[in-house]
Amino acid sequence: MRYPHFTRRLLVVLPSVLMCLIAINTASAIEHAKAKHVFYFIGDGMGSLQREVGEQCLKGITQNPDATLLMNQLPVQGFLQTRSANKNITDSAAAGTALATGYKTNNTVVGLLPDMKTPVPSIAELAHQHGLKVGILTSVTLDNATPACFFAHQAKRSHYYPISVQLANAPFAYFAGGGLQGLEHNGDNNLELAKTNGFVITQSRKQLAEQRPGTRVIALNESDKAQHAALPWEVERKDSDISLAQFVEQGIRLLDNDKGFFMMIEGGKIDWAGHDNAIGTLAREVVALDETLKVAMKFYKQHPNDTLIIITADHETGGMQKIGKPDPQYLANFTASFEHFKFQLIELIKNKATYEQAFALAQSQFRLDPLTEEQALDMQKGWALLLDSAPIKFNYKKYNPFIENCLVLAARKAGYQFTTHGHSNVDVPISAIGVGSDWFKGTQDNTVVTRYLYQLITGKPFSVLQEPGQ
Ligand SMILES: [Zn+2]
Repeated sequence: MRYPHFTRRLLVVLPSVLMCLIAINTASAIEHAKAKHVFYFIGDGMGSLQREVGEQCLKGITQNPDATLLMNQLPVQGFLQTRSANKNITDSAAAGTALATGYKTNNTVVGLLPDMKTPVPSIAELAHQHGLKVGILTSVTLDNATPACFFAHQAKRSHYYPISVQLANAPFAYFAGGGLQGLEHNGDNNLELAKTNGFVITQSRKQLAEQRPGTRVIALNESDKAQHAALPWEVERKDSDISLAQFVEQGIRLLDNDKGFFMMIEGGKIDWAGHDNAIGTLAREVVALDETLKVAMKFYKQHPNDTLIIITADHETGGMQKIGKPDPQYLANFTASFEHFKFQLIELIKNKATYEQAFALAQSQFRLDPLTEEQALDMQKGWALLLDSAPIKFNYKKYNPFIENCLVLAARKAGYQFTTHGHSNVDVPISAIGVGSDWFKGTQDNTVVTRYLYQLITGKPFSVLQEPGQ
């Protein structure tokens, strides 16, 4: 009974935490109209160059050399610093906590202070308390670190089951994502728990479209297990698949009401593609997030006086650098994800295919320039290693030379290089439009976002919790 007990404890602790707040005005005293409709976009792993690669890809897709991403055109552009409480390079849990709650914490921690005990409310929870309807949307799993920071409080991001329990018990109106990692534990099922708490679960676009405004919905896309309970990769998404943009369209329809709404929307696979160093897959995920932003922009144009849209990132993934002239057409011509390439590679390994067969597959995916002798030898050696290794393992921390060469040469062909398969600590862009958007100018710490949002939503200054031990 560990988890229900923790949940009970949280319900007891949260109000007392809120009681011992000390008021410090964190934003300038500029008077603003209140933000009644808030769209808070987070591109996981989306640094400046990820945005640039997305824009180059868009130029290629549209065959328009002047095409730009909407996120790069928003009137307010600034930067956020991303370090966590205990590391120079953050993970998505600590950065998500900073972006969601206004407090730094340690890597792997979700919605707690660095003491790993004290929960801090998220802006989604605060917006709900203020009467706004809340939606949490992601292209990956709903109990993944970034969305979790908006509804859960756990010492480890990998505590998927208790995070999902907190989702099922959340008072929010709308969750939308690929699925749940922490769905079941000892025979208990979190979607069943969510149903008893009044949620309707939908599994398809049609079911979601049938729900009436006011219905509390958890919208999933669990039909394709190969996607790890995430939405399909954008580069190979079929018309019949639901997209993040459609989740937002439905969210607006379900949540719009007199008191307003708060929506957090995560493009989670930008980070996954960044870890893979898969430039073509990455570019399309950024374009997809921009398509999603356009849905919010359409709403903004109808409600410009009380809507705020911000789009930012938790950190950069891949340590990207620009090394040449970008090639928009190369980026736009990818037709399959890196993950699909890996599935095909596994089949070739099982069939003990020759190097020539494997290289033909790599060519069809990456359209590489002719290799140098050294590169060809390295790839041949890598293929021999893949044939020898059992069980077949793909670990982005140490890719096999066959795969690594494909990734490096593809990025180079596009005009870029990755310097890590992990995260980096560069400042990430934040762009905004609407009520209070001017507060997001310049370079600031990532904890300011929620502090400003609180003030813009409630009209009251954010009160900073006196942290334990200070
Ligand atoms: Zn990551």
